[in-house]
Amino acid sequence: MLLILKADVDKGGVAYRKLWEYLENLQGIRASMHDTQGEQQCLTEIYLLGDTVRLDPAELASFEVVDRVVRISREYKILGRHQEDGRAGGFSYNGVSFSQDNLHVFAGLCAVDCAEHVEQMLQALQAAGQSCTRMGAYKPRTSPYSFQGHGRECLPYVFELAGKYGIRVIAMEVTHDSHVDEIHAALEQTGKPTGVMLQVGTRNTQNFELLKYLGRQQAYPILFKRGFGITLNESLNAAEYLAHEGNSRVIFCLRGVKSNMGDPHRNLVDFAHIPLLKRYTRMPVCVDPSHAVGTRACAPDGIPDVFHAAAQGVVAGANMVLVDFHPRPELALVDGPQALLLRELPWFLEDMHIAHEAYVQRRRIVPPPD
Ligand code: PEP
Ligand code: MN
Repeated sequence: MLLILKADVDKGGVAYRKLWEYLENLQGIRASMHDTQGEQQCLTEIYLLGDTVRLDPAELASFEVVDRVVRISREYKILGRHQEDGRAGGFSYNGVSFSQDNLHVFAGLCAVDCAEHVEQMLQALQAAGQSCTRMGAYKPRTSPYSFQGHGRECLPYVFELAGKYGIRVIAMEVTHDSHVDEIHAALEQTGKPTGVMLQVGTRNTQNFELLKYLGRQQAYPILFKRGFGITLNESLNAAEYLAHEGNSRVIFCLRGVKSNMGDPHRNLVDFAHIPLLKRYTRMPVCVDPSHAVGTRACAPDGIPDVFHAAAQGVVAGANMVLVDFHPRPELALVDGPQALLLRELPWFLEDMHIAHEAYVQRRRIVPPPD
Protein backbone atom coordinates (compact mmCIF):
# COMPACT_ATOMS: atom_id res chain seq x y z
CA MET A 1 0.00 0.00 0.00
CA LEU A 2 1.17 3.53 -0.75
CA LEU A 3 0.48 6.74 1.15
CA ILE A 4 0.89 9.93 -0.85
CA LEU A 5 1.47 12.81 1.53
CA LYS A 6 0.48 16.42 1.00
CA ALA A 7 3.14 18.37 -0.93
CA ASP A 8 5.97 19.96 1.08
CA VAL A 9 4.93 18.16 4.25
CA ASP A 10 6.72 19.39 7.39
CA LYS A 11 8.70 16.34 8.59
CA GLY A 12 9.42 18.01 11.93
CA GLY A 13 5.74 18.71 12.56
CA VAL A 14 3.38 17.02 15.02
CA ALA A 15 0.99 15.76 12.32
CA TYR A 16 3.79 13.92 10.50
CA ARG A 17 5.13 12.43 13.74
CA LYS A 18 1.64 11.20 14.64
CA LEU A 19 1.43 9.29 11.37
CA TRP A 20 4.88 7.69 11.87
CA GLU A 21 4.04 6.61 15.41
CA TYR A 22 0.90 4.94 14.11
CA LEU A 23 2.80 3.19 11.29
CA GLU A 24 5.58 2.01 13.58
CA ASN A 25 3.05 0.30 15.84
CA LEU A 26 1.50 -1.75 13.04
CA GLN A 27 2.42 -5.43 13.45
CA GLY A 28 4.04 -7.10 10.42
CA ILE A 29 4.24 -3.87 8.41
CA ARG A 30 7.41 -2.07 7.34
CA ALA A 31 7.16 1.54 6.24
CA SER A 32 9.69 3.18 3.93
CA MET A 33 9.66 6.84 2.95
CA HIS A 34 10.65 8.30 -0.43
CA ASP A 35 11.04 11.98 -1.28
CA THR A 36 10.98 13.31 -4.84
CA GLN A 37 12.20 16.87 -5.16
CA GLY A 38 10.47 18.49 -8.12
CA GLU A 39 11.20 21.99 -9.43
CA GLN A 40 8.20 23.44 -7.55
CA GLN A 41 7.66 21.15 -4.58
CA CYS A 42 8.80 18.10 -2.66
CA LEU A 43 6.56 15.03 -2.88
CA THR A 44 6.73 12.44 -0.13
CA GLU A 45 5.42 8.90 -0.48
CA ILE A 46 5.36 6.18 2.17
CA TYR A 47 5.39 2.54 1.06
CA LEU A 48 3.84 0.01 3.42
CA LEU A 49 5.21 -3.47 2.90
CA GLY A 50 4.16 -6.77 4.45
CA ASP A 51 0.72 -7.88 5.53
CA THR A 52 -1.17 -4.86 4.18
CA VAL A 53 -4.50 -6.55 3.23
CA ARG A 54 -5.92 -5.97 6.68
CA LEU A 55 -5.09 -2.23 6.70
CA ASP A 56 -8.03 0.14 6.45
CA PRO A 57 -7.40 2.70 3.67
CA ALA A 58 -10.01 5.07 5.13
CA GLU A 59 -8.24 5.13 8.49
CA LEU A 60 -4.89 5.87 6.86
CA ALA A 61 -6.47 8.58 4.70
CA SER A 62 -7.83 10.29 7.83
CA PHE A 63 -4.35 11.39 8.95
CA GLU A 64 -3.88 15.13 8.40
CA VAL A 65 -0.68 14.79 6.33
CA VAL A 66 -2.04 12.07 4.03
CA ASP A 67 -3.33 13.21 0.68
CA ARG A 68 -4.20 9.82 -0.87
CA VAL A 69 -3.97 6.08 -0.22
CA VAL A 70 -3.26 3.77 -3.17
CA ARG A 71 -3.41 -0.02 -3.16
CA ILE A 72 -0.34 -1.33 -4.95
CA SER A 73 -1.29 -3.88 -7.55
CA ARG A 74 2.05 -4.64 -9.21
CA GLU A 75 5.49 -5.66 -8.13
CA TYR A 76 7.15 -2.45 -9.36
CA LYS A 77 5.97 -0.59 -6.31
CA ILE A 78 7.48 2.83 -6.93
CA LEU A 79 7.85 3.04 -10.70
CA GLY A 80 4.69 1.02 -11.38
CA ARG A 81 1.25 2.33 -12.30
CA HIS A 82 -1.32 1.06 -9.82
CA GLN A 83 -5.10 0.96 -9.71
CA GLU A 84 -6.58 4.38 -8.87
CA ASP A 85 -3.06 5.72 -9.25
CA GLY A 86 -3.46 9.31 -10.31
CA ARG A 87 0.21 10.16 -9.72
CA ALA A 88 1.87 11.97 -12.57
CA GLY A 89 5.02 10.26 -13.83
CA GLY A 90 7.95 12.08 -15.32
CA PHE A 91 10.27 14.79 -14.06
CA SER A 92 12.17 17.90 -15.06
CA TYR A 93 15.92 18.06 -15.29
CA ASN A 94 18.05 21.07 -16.18
CA GLY A 95 15.07 22.83 -17.73
CA VAL A 96 13.90 19.88 -19.84
CA SER A 97 10.74 18.00 -18.87
CA PHE A 98 10.34 14.29 -19.49
CA SER A 99 7.02 12.46 -19.26
CA GLN A 100 4.85 9.84 -20.94
CA ASP A 101 3.26 12.68 -22.92
CA ASN A 102 6.12 14.38 -24.73
CA LEU A 103 9.00 13.53 -27.05
CA HIS A 104 12.72 14.36 -27.09
CA VAL A 105 15.34 13.26 -29.58
CA PHE A 106 18.85 12.51 -28.24
CA ALA A 107 20.93 12.33 -31.42
CA GLY A 108 24.70 12.17 -31.01
CA LEU A 109 27.89 10.17 -30.99
CA CYS A 110 27.85 6.59 -29.79
CA ALA A 111 31.33 7.27 -28.42
CA VAL A 112 33.40 10.43 -28.11
CA ASP A 113 36.49 10.03 -30.30
CA CYS A 114 37.89 13.55 -30.68
CA ALA A 115 36.96 17.15 -29.85
CA GLU A 116 36.57 18.02 -33.53
CA HIS A 117 33.83 15.41 -34.07
CA VAL A 118 32.12 16.39 -30.83
CA GLU A 119 32.04 20.01 -31.96
CA GLN A 120 30.75 19.16 -35.45
CA MET A 121 27.99 17.03 -33.92
CA LEU A 122 26.96 19.73 -31.45
CA GLN A 123 27.03 22.45 -34.08
CA ALA A 124 24.64 20.38 -36.23
CA LEU A 125 22.34 19.82 -33.26
CA GLN A 126 22.20 23.52 -32.43
CA ALA A 127 21.48 24.37 -36.07
CA ALA A 128 18.60 21.87 -35.94
CA GLY A 129 17.19 23.43 -32.74
CA GLN A 130 18.08 20.49 -30.48
CA SER A 131 18.96 20.72 -26.80
CA CYS A 132 19.75 17.08 -25.95
CA THR A 133 22.39 14.65 -27.19
CA ARG A 134 24.13 11.35 -26.51
CA MET A 135 27.92 11.07 -26.06
CA GLY A 136 29.64 7.98 -24.65
CA ALA A 137 32.85 8.42 -22.67
CA TYR A 138 32.89 5.00 -20.99
CA LYS A 139 32.22 2.18 -23.45
CA PRO A 140 31.62 -1.42 -22.34
CA ARG A 141 32.97 -3.49 -25.25
CA THR A 142 32.65 -7.13 -26.16
CA SER A 143 36.41 -7.45 -26.68
CA PRO A 144 39.07 -6.13 -24.28
CA TYR A 145 41.11 -5.16 -27.36
CA SER A 146 38.46 -2.74 -28.65
CA PHE A 147 38.48 1.00 -27.88
CA GLN A 148 37.09 1.43 -24.35
CA GLY A 149 36.17 5.14 -24.54
CA HIS A 150 38.27 8.15 -23.57
CA GLY A 151 36.77 8.16 -20.05
CA ARG A 152 37.28 11.17 -17.83
CA GLU A 153 39.94 12.69 -20.13
CA CYS A 154 37.29 13.83 -22.60
CA LEU A 155 34.69 15.08 -20.10
CA PRO A 156 35.88 18.71 -19.74
CA TYR A 157 35.83 19.43 -23.47
CA VAL A 158 32.59 17.53 -24.02
CA PHE A 159 30.84 19.54 -21.29
CA GLU A 160 32.32 22.89 -22.34
CA LEU A 161 31.37 22.35 -25.98
CA ALA A 162 27.88 21.19 -24.97
CA GLY A 163 27.44 24.44 -23.05
CA LYS A 164 28.75 26.44 -26.00
CA TYR A 165 26.11 24.92 -28.31
CA GLY A 166 23.19 25.16 -25.88
CA ILE A 167 22.91 21.47 -25.01
CA ARG A 168 21.06 20.96 -21.72
CA VAL A 169 21.16 17.16 -21.31
CA ILE A 170 23.75 14.58 -22.45
CA ALA A 171 22.90 10.88 -22.15
CA MET A 172 26.17 9.25 -21.06
CA GLU A 173 26.68 5.62 -20.08
CA VAL A 174 28.39 4.75 -16.81
CA THR A 175 29.58 1.27 -15.92
CA HIS A 176 31.09 1.91 -12.50
CA ASP A 177 30.42 4.09 -9.42
CA SER A 178 33.63 6.02 -10.04
CA HIS A 179 32.32 7.23 -13.42
CA VAL A 180 29.50 9.12 -11.69
CA ASP A 181 32.03 10.82 -9.42
CA GLU A 182 34.23 11.70 -12.40
CA ILE A 183 31.28 13.18 -14.30
CA HIS A 184 30.26 15.14 -11.21
CA ALA A 185 33.78 16.48 -10.70
CA ALA A 186 34.14 17.48 -14.36
CA LEU A 187 30.78 19.29 -14.34
CA GLU A 188 31.80 21.20 -11.21
CA GLN A 189 35.22 22.01 -12.65
CA THR A 190 33.73 23.38 -15.88
CA GLY A 191 31.01 25.39 -14.10
CA LYS A 192 28.08 23.07 -14.99
CA PRO A 193 27.66 24.22 -18.58
CA THR A 194 25.28 21.31 -19.29
CA GLY A 195 23.48 18.38 -17.60
CA VAL A 196 24.00 14.63 -17.73
CA MET A 197 21.52 11.77 -17.79
CA LEU A 198 23.35 8.67 -16.58
CA GLN A 199 22.82 5.72 -18.91
CA VAL A 200 22.73 2.11 -17.70
CA GLY A 201 23.64 -0.08 -20.66
CA THR A 202 22.01 -3.38 -21.53
CA ARG A 203 25.05 -5.27 -20.24
CA ASN A 204 24.56 -3.69 -16.81
CA THR A 205 20.79 -3.97 -16.46
CA GLN A 206 21.22 -6.44 -13.61
CA ASN A 207 24.41 -5.01 -12.12
CA PHE A 208 22.56 -4.49 -8.86
CA GLU A 209 25.42 -2.83 -6.96
CA LEU A 210 25.77 -0.23 -9.73
CA LEU A 211 21.99 0.27 -9.70
CA LYS A 212 22.00 0.80 -5.94
CA TYR A 213 24.74 3.41 -6.26
CA LEU A 214 22.90 5.23 -9.05
CA GLY A 215 19.69 5.04 -7.05
CA ARG A 216 21.27 6.58 -3.98
CA GLN A 217 22.41 9.70 -5.83
CA GLN A 218 19.80 12.32 -6.60
CA ALA A 219 21.84 14.66 -8.80
CA TYR A 220 21.30 12.90 -12.14
CA PRO A 221 18.33 11.16 -13.76
CA ILE A 222 18.83 7.71 -15.27
CA LEU A 223 18.31 6.31 -18.73
CA PHE A 224 17.84 2.63 -18.05
CA LYS A 225 18.23 0.15 -20.91
CA ARG A 226 16.28 -3.08 -21.12
CA GLY A 227 18.45 -6.17 -20.67
CA PHE A 228 18.98 -7.80 -24.05
CA GLY A 229 18.78 -11.39 -22.81
CA ILE A 230 16.33 -11.31 -19.90
CA THR A 231 12.57 -10.94 -19.61
CA LEU A 232 10.87 -7.56 -19.54
CA ASN A 233 9.69 -8.34 -16.02
CA GLU A 234 13.30 -8.89 -14.91
CA SER A 235 14.35 -5.57 -16.47
CA LEU A 236 11.50 -3.74 -14.75
CA ASN A 237 12.40 -5.25 -11.40
CA ALA A 238 15.98 -4.13 -11.97
CA ALA A 239 14.83 -0.56 -12.75
CA GLU A 240 12.89 -0.63 -9.50
CA TYR A 241 16.25 -0.94 -7.64
CA LEU A 242 16.97 2.66 -8.67
CA ALA A 243 13.69 3.92 -7.27
CA HIS A 244 13.90 1.72 -4.18
CA GLU A 245 17.25 3.34 -3.34
CA GLY A 246 15.75 6.80 -3.78
CA ASN A 247 15.97 7.90 -7.42
CA SER A 248 12.71 7.60 -9.35
CA ARG A 249 13.76 9.94 -12.16
CA VAL A 250 14.10 7.02 -14.55
CA ILE A 251 13.45 6.65 -18.29
CA PHE A 252 13.11 3.09 -19.59
CA CYS A 253 14.78 2.41 -22.94
CA LEU A 254 13.88 -0.33 -25.42
CA ARG A 255 16.89 -1.23 -27.57
CA GLY A 256 15.99 -4.58 -29.10
CA VAL A 257 16.66 -8.06 -27.71
CA LYS A 258 19.20 -10.68 -28.69
CA SER A 259 17.68 -13.35 -30.93
CA ASN A 260 18.59 -14.89 -34.26
CA MET A 261 14.99 -14.14 -35.18
CA GLY A 262 16.08 -10.51 -35.56
CA ASP A 263 18.82 -11.23 -38.12
CA PRO A 264 20.12 -9.56 -40.18
CA HIS A 265 19.35 -6.64 -37.85
CA ARG A 266 21.64 -6.48 -34.83
CA ASN A 267 18.74 -7.23 -32.46
CA LEU A 268 15.06 -8.07 -32.70
CA VAL A 269 13.25 -4.72 -32.52
CA ASP A 270 10.94 -4.73 -29.50
CA PHE A 271 9.18 -1.37 -29.81
CA ALA A 272 5.74 -3.03 -29.68
CA HIS A 273 6.35 -3.07 -25.91
CA ILE A 274 5.88 0.71 -25.60
CA PRO A 275 2.14 0.66 -24.76
CA LEU A 276 2.69 -2.17 -22.33
CA LEU A 277 5.45 -0.27 -20.50
CA LYS A 278 3.17 2.75 -20.20
CA ARG A 279 0.41 0.55 -18.83
CA TYR A 280 2.67 -1.14 -16.28
CA THR A 281 4.72 1.89 -15.21
CA ARG A 282 4.72 5.69 -15.05
CA MET A 283 8.18 5.97 -16.63
CA PRO A 284 8.72 7.86 -19.89
CA VAL A 285 9.73 5.33 -22.57
CA CYS A 286 12.73 5.71 -24.87
CA VAL A 287 13.59 3.77 -28.03
CA ASP A 288 17.10 3.25 -29.38
CA PRO A 289 16.70 2.34 -33.06
CA SER A 290 20.47 2.43 -33.70
CA HIS A 291 21.47 -0.38 -31.34
CA ALA A 292 18.31 -2.30 -32.23
CA VAL A 293 18.84 -2.20 -36.02
CA GLY A 294 22.63 -1.84 -36.16
CA THR A 295 23.01 -0.87 -39.82
CA ARG A 296 22.73 2.11 -42.16
CA ALA A 297 20.91 -0.08 -44.68
CA CYS A 298 18.07 1.50 -46.57
CA ALA A 299 14.74 0.06 -47.74
CA PRO A 300 13.83 0.33 -51.45
CA ASP A 301 11.61 3.29 -50.49
CA GLY A 302 14.83 5.25 -49.78
CA ILE A 303 14.23 5.37 -46.02
CA PRO A 304 16.96 3.87 -43.76
CA ASP A 305 15.92 0.97 -41.50
CA VAL A 306 16.94 3.08 -38.47
CA PHE A 307 14.39 5.75 -39.50
CA HIS A 308 11.71 3.10 -40.00
CA ALA A 309 12.29 1.54 -36.58
CA ALA A 310 12.43 4.93 -34.84
CA ALA A 311 9.19 5.99 -36.54
CA GLN A 312 7.49 2.78 -35.40
CA GLY A 313 8.46 3.67 -31.83
CA VAL A 314 7.28 7.27 -32.08
CA VAL A 315 3.98 6.36 -33.78
CA ALA A 316 3.39 4.04 -30.81
CA GLY A 317 3.97 6.87 -28.31
CA ALA A 318 7.70 6.76 -27.46
CA ASN A 319 8.85 9.73 -25.38
CA MET A 320 12.51 9.73 -26.31
CA VAL A 321 14.65 8.58 -29.22
CA LEU A 322 18.32 7.80 -28.62
CA VAL A 323 20.09 7.66 -31.97
CA ASP A 324 23.67 7.43 -33.26
CA PHE A 325 25.03 10.05 -35.67
CA HIS A 326 28.61 10.73 -36.70
CA PRO A 327 30.28 13.39 -38.89
CA ARG A 328 32.51 10.69 -40.46
CA PRO A 329 31.09 7.22 -39.68
CA GLU A 330 34.05 5.59 -41.46
CA LEU A 331 36.34 7.10 -38.78
CA ALA A 332 34.11 6.30 -35.77
CA LEU A 333 35.83 4.16 -33.14
CA VAL A 334 32.55 2.48 -32.08
CA ASP A 335 29.44 1.53 -34.08
CA GLY A 336 30.30 3.48 -37.25
CA PRO A 337 28.22 1.10 -39.44
CA GLN A 338 24.97 2.16 -37.75
CA ALA A 339 25.68 5.91 -37.46
CA LEU A 340 23.57 8.31 -39.50
CA LEU A 341 25.21 11.26 -41.27
CA LEU A 342 25.02 14.87 -40.08
CA ARG A 343 23.34 15.94 -43.30
CA GLU A 344 20.60 13.41 -42.51
CA LEU A 345 19.82 15.05 -39.14
CA PRO A 346 17.18 17.57 -40.36
CA TRP A 347 15.54 14.78 -42.41
CA PHE A 348 15.52 12.44 -39.38
CA LEU A 349 14.01 15.14 -37.16
CA GLU A 350 11.30 15.92 -39.71
CA ASP A 351 10.54 12.21 -40.01
CA MET A 352 10.18 11.99 -36.21
CA HIS A 353 7.94 15.06 -36.26
CA ILE A 354 5.65 13.40 -38.82
CA ALA A 355 5.56 10.20 -36.76
CA HIS A 356 4.77 12.17 -33.60
CA GLU A 357 1.95 14.04 -35.36
CA ALA A 358 0.54 10.67 -36.41
CA TYR A 359 0.59 9.56 -32.76
CA VAL A 360 -1.16 12.76 -31.66
CA GLN A 361 -3.84 12.18 -34.31
CA ARG A 362 -4.21 8.54 -33.30
CA ARG A 363 -4.93 9.71 -29.76
CA ARG A 364 -7.46 12.23 -31.03
CA ILE A 365 -9.69 9.55 -32.59
CA VAL A 366 -9.81 7.30 -29.49
CA PRO A 367 -13.54 6.90 -28.66
CA PRO A 368 -14.56 8.17 -25.20
CA PRO A 369 -14.97 5.44 -22.55
CA ASP A 370 -18.52 4.00 -22.19
C1 PEP B 1 24.90 2.60 -26.25
O1 PEP B 1 23.78 3.19 -26.25
O2 PEP B 1 25.96 3.17 -26.52
C2 PEP B 1 24.95 1.17 -25.92
C3 PEP B 1 26.10 0.56 -25.69
O3 PEP B 1 23.75 0.60 -25.90
P1 PEP B 1 23.32 -0.82 -25.28
O4 PEP B 1 23.70 -0.78 -23.85
O5 PEP B 1 21.82 -0.80 -25.49
O6 PEP B 1 24.02 -1.86 -26.09
MN1 MN C 1 26.99 1.85 -29.57
